[in-house]
Amino acid sequence: MPRYIIDESALKRNLEVLKGVSDRTGVKILLAQKAFSCTAVYPLCAEYLAGTTASSLFEAKHGHDNFGGETHVFAPAFIPEEMDELLGLVDHIVFNSPRQVALYGERARKRGVSAGLRVNPEVSVATTPAYDPCRPSSRLGTTRAVLDESGFFLAAKDAKSAKVDGLHFHCLCEQGLDELRKVLAGFEEKFGELLPLMKWVNFGGGHHITREGYDVEGLVALLNDFRTRHPHLEVYLEPGEAIALNAGTLESRVLEIQPKGADGVSNAILDTSAACHMPDVIEMPYTPPLVGAEKGAGGPYAYRFGGPTCLAGDEIGVYSFKHKLCEGDTVVFGDMAIYTMVKNNTFNGLNLPDIVLRHIDGSEVLVRRFGYADFACRL
Ligand SMILES: *Cc1c(COP(=O)(O)O)cnc(C)c1O
Repeated sequence: MPRYIIDESALKRNLEVLKGVSDRTGVKILLAQKAFSCTAVYPLCAEYLAGTTASSLFEAKHGHDNFGGETHVFAPAFIPEEMDELLGLVDHIVFNSPRQVALYGERARKRGVSAGLRVNPEVSVATTPAYDPCRPSSRLGTTRAVLDESGFFLAAKDAKSAKVDGLHFHCLCEQGLDELRKVLAGFEEKFGELLPLMKWVNFGGGHHITREGYDVEGLVALLNDFRTRHPHLEVYLEPGEAIALNAGTLESRVLEIQPKGADGVSNAILDTSAACHMPDVIEMPYTPPLVGAEKGAGGPYAYRFGGPTCLAGDEIGVYSFKHKLCEGDTVVFGDMAIYTMVKNNTFNGLNLPDIVLRHIDGSEVLVRRFGYADFACRL
């Protein structure tokens, strides 16, 4: 049975870095649950972070019920039937367009929920279009031109008459400080004149703050500079990846090793699947790190890892080992806490991996084991 193992000490290291940033800047940091929603470690995360952000009613409820702190939500368009329940759960709601604000803004504020508008600064820094919310014709966020056409802010003379309390932008994906600088400059150039009317600004996610080499000192300086220039604004960051980056592994077993192919590489069938258990490997796409092996066919023993599904493209990648791999061996994929458990599925009837928590003292507890019922109940 494959296992996702969440490593509490690695998680804690990330959380300490993030808390250091909030302590030194007064900026509030939220967990974007889209990347990582492991309920068992929410109490630990809640000691370090200000709350959660969600992209749906279910995520909002999950954060509200299990994490506490502030609950924020953004969606490109909200589902009318869910609005009532959603407004009972969240502290902030971020709308994608002036039209959505017109539909729900007043209702939100009457319920004591702070309303915001997601803007699109039109600064493309993400490296692939699928992860670039500022790509041409993007549906995410309101551009300055659309805002002007809507006449949205024209009537507002002060914070009281403004239709929203805050602005939100999210343009980064696994990126560093240089990209944030570019995006923030674009945001302030296009939307800066509205900031005196606002109470808060949310800088979105995609900040790879806990990655080795990230310029944390530079981020602290940038945030303090922004706060000095806009002392009336509360500032939020809502990273997902950065919270659980490199804080989990996926352990899998080698079921069968096939003879070497024409390219000198043997196919090795594992009991874990890219398509089911690490969908980003195919979607993004990327090759995950593997403990004790190099990526590529460069070493003496090279294997192409694939899943036990019938999908020809269910391949994880080619890896080289110094030693021969045997059937029954365990292999360990790195950085498997984020965008895995939140995205996995039971395609082909494959069971889901166990979820295991490795405590700081090294002891392991099984948090969740799945079975036939988890597959059958959705069909
Ligand atoms: C995806 C997303 C995040 C989190 O992004 P990460 O890359 O995981 O840090 C935050 N905010 C919004 C609006 C998002 O869509």
